[in-house]
Amino acid sequence: MKGMMMHQPLLVSEILEFGVGAYPRAEIVSVRTEGDIHRETYVEFRDRTVQLAHALKKHGVELGDRVATLAWNGYRHMELYYGISGIGGICHTINPRLSAEQFIYIVNHAEDKLLFLDTTFVPIIEAVKDHLPKDLVYVIMTDRAHMPETSFDALCYEEMLEGQPTEIEWPVFDENTACGLCYTSGTTGNPKGALYSHRSTYLHAMMISVMQTTTFQEGASVLPVVPLFHVNAWGLPYSSLISGLNMVMPGPAMDGPSLFKLMDEEKVFSAWGVPTIWQGLLAEIKKQGRKPENFGDVVVGGSAAPRSMIEAFEKLDVSVGHAWGMTEMSPVGTHGIMPKWMEEESFETRIDYKSLQGRRCLGVELKLVDEDGNRLPHDGKAVGELFVRGNTVVSGYFRNEEASEKALDADGWFGTGDVASIDKDGFLSIQDRAKDLIKSGGEWISSIDLENLAMAHPAIAQAAAIGVKHPRWDERPILVAVAAEGAEKPSIEEMRDHLSSEFAKWQLPDDIVWVDAIPLTATGKFSKLNLRKELADYVHPELRETA
Ligand code: AMP
Repeated sequence: MKGMMMHQPLLVSEILEFGVGAYPRAEIVSVRTEGDIHRETYVEFRDRTVQLAHALKKHGVELGDRVATLAWNGYRHMELYYGISGIGGICHTINPRLSAEQFIYIVNHAEDKLLFLDTTFVPIIEAVKDHLPKDLVYVIMTDRAHMPETSFDALCYEEMLEGQPTEIEWPVFDENTACGLCYTSGTTGNPKGALYSHRSTYLHAMMISVMQTTTFQEGASVLPVVPLFHVNAWGLPYSSLISGLNMVMPGPAMDGPSLFKLMDEEKVFSAWGVPTIWQGLLAEIKKQGRKPENFGDVVVGGSAAPRSMIEAFEKLDVSVGHAWGMTEMSPVGTHGIMPKWMEEESFETRIDYKSLQGRRCLGVELKLVDEDGNRLPHDGKAVGELFVRGNTVVSGYFRNEEASEKALDADGWFGTGDVASIDKDGFLSIQDRAKDLIKSGGEWISSIDLENLAMAHPAIAQAAAIGVKHPRWDERPILVAVAAEGAEKPSIEEMRDHLSSEFAKWQLPDDIVWVDAIPLTATGKFSKLNLRKELADYVHPELRETA
């Protein structure tokens, strides 16, 4: 027997209308590329979002059309999130740190109709525009006075909004309609698109607000340093409106001193971002001998939060929530809010638990499997590949049948490529990565792609790329190589030069270690596990220099 309840589709436009209706005075405060600070209330934010929605319709955006954004965290980017999806379009966020090759691939693959960009990113478009669709419409996110010189035709964001009405009847459509698209480069080969629906986005936003009930108090200020251009800023653009938070947007200024100043002035309580960002903030806190006023909560994820970082924050009375997730999971899967019983434990024990990746979020199931696909117990000892299932997890990839077929196991679970254990209290511990990837400063580098191009160099017989520990970037890539017979070994500069044809500068390896042979697995692949063991004493060049 079915329940007799109404069925209203879960749409992103309702999150906007709810937030504005319930918390009209809440604010979005943004550091702008223009150099100043901009403030708007939720009401003003809605008015401008509605104007944008009308403008988008005038430019022919219809249900299912992709509209790309290439922008920092700021109010205009928020307006795009809601304006595009509100009328049934798909907000396609692009990571400006992608290589030119990946950038060209995804804009063509997504077939974006318009591309909105911050002034900062004009050089990216200048470099790749000849390879992008000829009919792509560019809109620069500033006013007329700040429009930069460009060799391509571009509209002005503020002019686009001018004169548009501030009233709208948001269209109602199926909640399974797509609303967002984010490509993950956390794979080998071409990036793959996670296509979020209104329903998954709505549920994910509620999930975040539910898990943060102790910290997400109405009127509190939250700082998303985690970018809107990747992984939906961990759902904050939506959950902030559900909880009535003031959003403080750092724009391009994400160095320690700038973040400290902004947090201090705006009385930020909760700050969210990858570990690399917090290294910078902690250094500034040390320098100033105090933390920013009102700072009490930090959410760290994207890469493992180092124990020393967690300890440093906790000693400042800043509670650390260590979260785990991925693009394919909207992105949050587990959260680091501690159970009540933890209060009785010692400081050391609490730090131990906070170093783990937390417990599962509502609606996200976790399972561990061995190499044969058998389920492993959640006993804190068994280590296996982590699979996930839930309404906020992808069921496949946008326009990519091959990858979609491989995404789920026979029972419909998504394989994360992370290797983990889960203890009896539900705490996840990420131990290793089955996927061949290096994560530097929260961004991916494909080790396989690096190796293949390195081995295309005539002086290299074999090359393996691995990540080595780095205090600032968490991991940095190095090459371990076997020289071709009789060849002169190329210098690291020469190798970097060779690799820069396909890789962004920050993705290039920092060092080459020459070996006689690279250890192999039983199936003849490079054994990264053994290689990492062999190089256990390896020290990154920068650390050697300072030693
Ligand atoms: P992305 O799709 O770029 O968000 O990357 C997701 C991947 O980042 C995961 O599959 C993990 O390998 C890694 N990751 C994310 N959060 C954490 C964390 N807290 N600890 C360790 N690894 C993490």
